[in-house]
Amino acid sequence: MIKNIAVIGAGTMGNGIAHVFAQYGFNVTLTDINEAALGKAIETISKNADRQVSKGIITQATKDRILSTLHTSTSIETGLAEADLVIEAATENKAVKLKIFKELDAFAPPSCILATNTSSISITAIAAVTKRAEKVIGMHFMNPVPVMKLVEVINGYGTAKEVTNEVVHITQQLDKIPCIVNDYPGFIANRILMPMINEAIYSLYEGVAGVEEIDTVMKLGMAHPMGPLQLADFIGLDVCLSILKVLYEGFGNPKYAPCPLLVNMVAAGKLGVKSGEGFYKYTSGSKELVPAL
Ligand code: NAD
Repeated sequence: MIKNIAVIGAGTMGNGIAHVFAQYGFNVTLTDINEAALGKAIETISKNADRQVSKGIITQATKDRILSTLHTSTSIETGLAEADLVIEAATENKAVKLKIFKELDAFAPPSCILATNTSSISITAIAAVTKRAEKVIGMHFMNPVPVMKLVEVINGYGTAKEVTNEVVHITQQLDKIPCIVNDYPGFIANRILMPMINEAIYSLYEGVAGVEEIDTVMKLGMAHPMGPLQLADFIGLDVCLSILKVLYEGFGNPKYAPCPLLVNMVAAGKLGVKSGEGFYKYTSGSKELVPAL
């Protein structure tokens, strides 16, 4: 039975994944190479849990339990010896993930399932650096994790059927909806979403319309809750760029070439919400959307 969870990477997604597992009674260890990221993750989890308490989604006692049962560490080894399931949510970079999976394979017990929250990197390639390809799987949570219901469950070439079934079951235990897909670049979510975001950025780059106009057309015209440029800021422009590169290289098709404006913004450190500026400017505590371009 799955009880002990290790989450690797405490950024935008890692803190949400740790939050949800702790909320549903699992023992969670959250690790990150960056001490500051761990501090920020605990702050975010506490703030998000406060919001859940004020909306009546969880009780104050559950919030207290989430924070008291969550362990953090800067060492990837912490919690791995007892882990039943690992979810890797580190930076979207293939070399980083391959290195982490080699370590996970070395330190986690042979029975442990190794899942990655990657948005686009091949599950099969990640599995190939381990000695347990049948136990490697994609578990692609959506942002913000405590709110979004979908988990894309991605079967690598060698993922065992029982492992998929177990991951489906655990997803349901988190009150989320699993959707099983196969391992091709971008899977389903990002294969469809990223070309739309890239096209929105190209529309801005070519001067077809401004930031607000592009987002308004998609919000009011297509009933999207958020425009594509705001969504890109929310995901992180560096993450969007990495995913587009995977699609571009994976399919060898120029239709996925990242817009030069996106490339420039990432080079300039304009990463969206997490850096305080992307297509919009973000000031802490303010909900007003102020275009930056
Ligand atoms: P992020 O940049 O916010 O956080 C990544 C974290 O990983 C950082 O805190 C970094 O210090 C840490 N890290 C880097 N190398 C590490 C290592 N070797 N060991 C431990 N920690 C390490 O990124 P994110 O947006 O949270 O994305 C994480 C993963 O989730 C990526 O694979 C991304 O594609 C995927 N994802 C992101 C979103 C999104 O909306 N941002 C949605 C779904 C999936």
